[in-house]
This record gives sequence, structure tokens and C-alpha cells, in this order.
Amino acid sequence: MHIRIEDTVEVLTGDERGSRGRVLRVDHSTGKVLVEGVNRVYKHVRRSQRNPQGGRLSREMPVFLSNVMLVCQECDVATRTGVRTDNDGSKHRYCKKCGKAIGQIAPPKNR
Ligand SMILES: [Zn+2]
Repeated sequence: MHIRIEDTVEVLTGDERGSRGRVLRVDHSTGKVLVEGVNRVYKHVRRSQRNPQGGRLSREMPVFLSNVMLVCQECDVATRTGVRTDNDGSKHRYCKKCGKAIGQIAPPKNR
């Protein structure tokens, strides 16, 4: 899984192609990610004690990981990422376009 919580991703397919959001949740069992503001659905709710106004609630639905791509903050485009290992054994993702590291994914190894 190359996407992690707090990443910024871009949607590649569907009605919301091109829109971006922050990853709120990653579900490894379904291969889906929840992205802030993406794939919003509206739920109509009746007036209740908890929700005296009633009306519409919006919430995001998870999208398949394969439909989003990580955005490189440096190039400002959705990019493919690679993984490289540093001398200390720690692993980083990096942008395949500009080569900039995008977050550590494994801590340094103790020797
Ligand atoms: Zn880049």
C-alpha cells in the first residue's frame, strides 16, 4: 500500500477526476481510502433531538486505492512513487518525477 494517512492524493477516474484531498483513512482489507471532500454522498435526515434542524448530512465514501494517486508537493502533480532505502536502513517513498522524498515508510534499522 503506497498511500498513507495525511497524504494528499488526486482522483484519477470518475466524476471527480482531478480533485484532490487529504487521506483520512486507509482500509487495508478492502483496498480503499477515505479522502476528505472526495466521493461525498448526502444523507437526508429527519428532525430529531440530536439533529433538530434535520436536512442533509454529507459524508465521504471510500474510493479504491487504484483510483487515486499521490500528489508530490514539489512538482504539484499526481505522481508515481518509488521506494528507496537509505544508508541507515530506513525506507522512504520518493517522487519518480523530481526524486524528492515523500515521507519515511520504515524507520532506520538497528545494527
Ligand atoms: Zn515531485
